[in-house]
Amino acid sequence: MEFKKCKRCGAFFVSNNSVCPNCEPKDNLELSKLKGFLTENECPNSIETLASSTGISVKNLNRFLAKEDFSSVASKLDINKNSNISVQL
Ligand SMILES: [Zn+2]
Repeated sequence: MEFKKCKRCGAFFVSNNSVCPNCEPKDNLELSKLKGFLTENECPNSIETLASSTGISVKNLNRFLAKEDFSSVASKLDINKNSNISVQL
C-alpha cells in the first residue's frame, strides 16, 4: 500500500487502485459503459469519436484502454501517439 494521487480527481489516497474510493464507482460505471459500447458497436477510428460516443473523457479512455482487456481496441486506435498522460506503475 502506498500514497497515490487519484487519476480522476487528484485526491491523495492509500490503496492499490489507480483511483480514489470516491471515484471508483464512476470508473466502474464508465468501464462497463465502454465495454457495452464496444460489444454493440464497431470500434470508432479515433479515440475522440469513442469519447463523444460514450461520453467518457479522452483522458479516462486512455487509462481504460491501457488495460489488457482492451489491448486489441487500443492497438486499433493507436492511442500511444497521443499519450501525454503519465503512466504510474
Ligand atoms: Zn478521485
